[in-house]
Amino acid sequence: MSEVLNVEEIFASKVFTLGKMKERLPRNVYKEVKKVMDQGGELSLAAADVVAKAMKDWAVENGATHYTHWFQPLTGITAEKHDAFVTHPDEEGRMLMEFSGKELIKGEPDASSFPSGGLRATFEARGYTAWDITSPAFLKEDATGVILCVPTAFCSYTGEALDKKTPLLRSMEAVSQQALRIVRLFGNTEATKVVASVGPEQEYFLVDREKYLQREDLIFAGRTLFGAPAPKGQELEDHYFGAIRERIGAYMKDLNVELWKLGVTAKTQHNEVAPAQHELAPIYETANIAVDHNQLVMETMKKVAGRHGLTCLLHEKPFAGVNGSGKHNNWSLGTDDGVNLLDPGDTPNENIQFLLVLACIIKAVDTHADLLRQSAADVGNDHRLGANEAPPAIISMFLGEQLEDVVRQLVETGEAAHSIQGGKLMTGVSTLPDLDKDATDRNRTSPFAFTGNKFEFRMVGSSDSIASPNTILNAIVAEAFCEAADLLEKAEDLDIAVHDLIKEYMTRHQRIIFNGDGYADEWVREAERRGLPNIKSMVEAASALTTDKSIRLFEKFGIFTKVELESREEIIYETYAKTINIEALTMIDMAGRKYIPAVVKYSKALADTVIAVRDAGADASVQTQLLNAVSGKLAQAKNALNRLETVTAQASAMKDVKAQAFFYKDSVKSAMDELRAPVDQLEMMVDKEMWPVPTYGELTFEV
Ligand code: ADP
Ligand code: MG
Repeated sequence: MSEVLNVEEIFASKVFTLGKMKERLPRNVYKEVKKVMDQGGELSLAAADVVAKAMKDWAVENGATHYTHWFQPLTGITAEKHDAFVTHPDEEGRMLMEFSGKELIKGEPDASSFPSGGLRATFEARGYTAWDITSPAFLKEDATGVILCVPTAFCSYTGEALDKKTPLLRSMEAVSQQALRIVRLFGNTEATKVVASVGPEQEYFLVDREKYLQREDLIFAGRTLFGAPAPKGQELEDHYFGAIRERIGAYMKDLNVELWKLGVTAKTQHNEVAPAQHELAPIYETANIAVDHNQLVMETMKKVAGRHGLTCLLHEKPFAGVNGSGKHNNWSLGTDDGVNLLDPGDTPNENIQFLLVLACIIKAVDTHADLLRQSAADVGNDHRLGANEAPPAIISMFLGEQLEDVVRQLVETGEAAHSIQGGKLMTGVSTLPDLDKDATDRNRTSPFAFTGNKFEFRMVGSSDSIASPNTILNAIVAEAFCEAADLLEKAEDLDIAVHDLIKEYMTRHQRIIFNGDGYADEWVREAERRGLPNIKSMVEAASALTTDKSIRLFEKFGIFTKVELESREEIIYETYAKTINIEALTMIDMAGRKYIPAVVKYSKALADTVIAVRDAGADASVQTQLLNAVSGKLAQAKNALNRLETVTAQASAMKDVKAQAFFYKDSVKSAMDELRAPVDQLEMMVDKEMWPVPTYGELTFEV
């Protein structure tokens, strides 16, 4: 028997939960904290001092020596700078650990080295972190000891957001305010806010750490830049949902325990489609907490892997030829009195509030398809989107049979008289229960699918923060709600006005609805006919941030200023150029110092063999043929290497960031492909004993 795990006990044991605050704080302070959490506003410094002390005492009891403001700069990952609770010793040399309210609320990391896209001139390097009271503080334990982490937002001296959390929080407020106007129209007087909820499904790969360490491409780029396909890939579909191997199972168990301690509701685990690929999904929660927790999930996945002699790859496309990894972002809106605005009920045709919400979302997604696409763009995701395994780069919405039928009725006749019902699914076996069928089947190829009571945005990359996609979703839907409410609040006859508006939105924006196969080539042509944008790459998507339409949207709701948007666009170009540059340099390094020398050695061995065989008076034609073939590919590889060196040097000397990013995409990437091709062919020709790095087969099957 294995040791019994008390999950209820360990859950959130490393989190300073509301429950712990209630226990440890005086009643009035607890009430003040709760009020700020629920309704916003600022905690008084006196209360902050009390909270800080309680938080520190709890942390120290649990072994903490330091605290950090934990924030999410535009690198897409998290940042921390540790400060010990240590203070000046008194006259007698005694020291008391301290943490003040001021230190809890505000920090000032010297943040001049984070990407700011021109937001902070170098002489003005002040950045501030501010406590996000709605996301609980937690303890992180690693070789540094135990650190109290306080989730914070990160802003510049002049108040511009330098992070991913600030705009997200702003967008949550915007969508809450506008959604409240909608539910008020339908008679809800109780709700005080509308909360965006998010459940991200996280895909990842695990490889053996020893083998990982033999591959510079995995180390520096997080993906393989070379590698011939293994004889077996994912074609048998035997890995998906397959039995979990012992070593992976031990990893998953450890990972769950670590996450549960951090208050992350790790719920579902399974093997994914590609060999060595897996998935973990938590239960959904408030958007900003889901974003923070997803960062913890990614970080913990990597950390725990080390303990098992494994490395976790979060890159969107670690291996060519098999599926890459994404992150399905499940999103919904609910009132604080318990109504999910995306729940259609059994008869959506009669649920007018739902239909209005749906019409607004359809309008929002159609109007801002470019922004939504951009929000899922990252360097690795360029390998997935539109590549026949992941959603296409074209945004469309899948509503399912039932809702599509309701929309059709509304558009055609102005009335929706009935809803298709699910009925029973007969199993045909007397001992098996017959099942209630959902009215809607799944569609796995849609980038934005309605799945029962939420939308599932499936474009997001596995390594990316989910902050941007949710910021955009909240923002675009807030805008549509606002425009609807502006009209409806003034309407003389609300019923008629709502009815007309639903019909109008659905009619005008129905082109975004597509229930067919999103991976099919015909869809690309059909989408073009419909005038839907097909934005193929991260750099092409970036300018969506700074169109007039986008600036108007974000400034209206105070989510981003024009300057913040421009800085983000610039950072995208910089990030892209730097990332591809690293990949190119890694290829140059591996080709020049590993592959080409190995092939040279092998061809020398072949040449020696040819001579020896000939000297012995035998026929050396096969050896000669091999030698010729290998030498030919070697020459091709060397030429391609020279060319990659030239274009990479050219690229890195460019001054204009946007032009530079496009040059990396158009010229450097094709030079990389040209080098990869002959090296991968050589891998199939050269003696395996002489091949300098572990192969795809060894990496993905021998875990
Ligand atoms: P799948 O079958 O696509 O894997 P699941 O039903 O298991 O989907 O849910 C995937 C994710 O969606 C989980 O994180 C789950 O908690 C989340 N989810 C479920 N309902 C909602 C909702 N109303 N809003 C946001 N996320 C939700
Ligand atoms: Mg899913």
